[in-house]
Amino acid sequence: MQALTLPTVGEVRVEAVVEPALVSPHDAIIKVSASAICGSDLHAYRGRIANISPGIPIGHEYVGVVTEAGPEVRRFKAGDRVTGSFFTVCGRCWACQHGLFPQCADSAMFGFGPDLGDLAGTQAEYARIPHADHTLLRIPEGVSDEAAILVGDVLSTAYFAVERSGVKPGDTAAVVGLGPVGLLAVEIFFLMGAAQVAALDVVPERLQGAQERGAIPVMADASAVRAIRDVTEGRGADAVVEAVGSEAGLALALQVVRGFGSVSSAGVYTERAIPVSMARVFAKDLTFRAGKANIPAVAPRVMELLKHGRLHPERLFTHRLPLSEGPRGYQLFADRQALKILLIP
Ligand SMILES: [Zn+2]
Ligand SMILES: [Zn+2]
Repeated sequence: MQALTLPTVGEVRVEAVVEPALVSPHDAIIKVSASAICGSDLHAYRGRIANISPGIPIGHEYVGVVTEAGPEVRRFKAGDRVTGSFFTVCGRCWACQHGLFPQCADSAMFGFGPDLGDLAGTQAEYARIPHADHTLLRIPEGVSDEAAILVGDVLSTAYFAVERSGVKPGDTAAVVGLGPVGLLAVEIFFLMGAAQVAALDVVPERLQGAQERGAIPVMADASAVRAIRDVTEGRGADAVVEAVGSEAGLALALQVVRGFGSVSSAGVYTERAIPVSMARVFAKDLTFRAGKANIPAVAPRVMELLKHGRLHPERLFTHRLPLSEGPRGYQLFADRQALKILLIP
C-alpha cells in the first residue's frame, strides 16, 4: 500500500509499505478514507521529535472504515465508519478505569516512532488500530469525514483546553496562538458561554480567521496586554487558552490573564525546559493547567455537538490533496501557506 514516511528530517516521502494485519485480538484494521496533517506532525518533520522510524507510516489524524476486527473487539465490525484518538488506550489499567486516558499505562501514539509507542501512522491506505474498542469512535450519520477527523485530535484538544480553563458564561476569554487548535478554541469558548473572546497572533490571516468566528483580533506584540485590558475594564482575561507551546506564547498568556484567572495550555512543548515567571504566577494567584488532551473522554461529547450542528470545524481545511501529494502538503503547511490539509488515499 501507499503511505507517507519520514526517512530524514524535512523530507516526507511517498513509499510502498506492507499492509498492516491484526496483531492482537483487540486490534482492528481500517481503510483510511482521509488523514490530516497536524501541527505536531511538523514537530517530527522539523526534527523536534527524535527517532522517527524510516519506512514506517507517519501521521495520527484519521477517518476510515473498519475492514477487519479482531475476535475480542466488541463495539466495532467491518463496514463501520470511524475516527479515533491520536493515541491508543488499553481501557483496563488504573488510569483508564478512572477516565484519565492520556496517562494509560499501555498507550501508544500513531506515527511518532519507538519513543512514543512504536506504532505505524495513519497517513496511509490502511492502518492498524490497537485496543479498537477504546481508541475508535463511531461517526454518526450526517457528520462529514472532514468534521469527524478533527474529533480525533485538534477539535477535542481545543474542547479539553477550553473546559479546563474553567470559563463561565459571561467571561472574557483569550486565545494565544491561532493555528487550528486556537481557532477551534475560539468557537468552543463561545459555545461555552464566553461573552467575548480576544484572539492573539501575529499572522494577519489567522487574526482574520478568528474575527470571522466572532473574536476580537489582537496583534500579539507589545500592545497586546493593553488591548486586552481595554476590553476588560483593566482587569485582564478571565480564562486563557495557550495554543502555541512556546516560551513566548506562555509568557503572553500569563500576562493577559487577570488575577485569580486561569491559563490552560494546549500547545505541545518540545523544549526540555522553558523559563516561567513564577513570581508573576504567585502575584496573580493563577491556576495553570497543561497536558495531553483527554481525547477518549471528551470525544463522544464533541461528536454530539457535530451531530447536532453546534460546531462547524470543517471550514478549517484550506487544502484537500491526494495522499501522493503529501510531501507538497507538508511543505505548504511548514511554510504556513496552509491552515489544515486533508490527505486522501
Ligand atoms: Zn494532531
Ligand atoms: Zn490504560
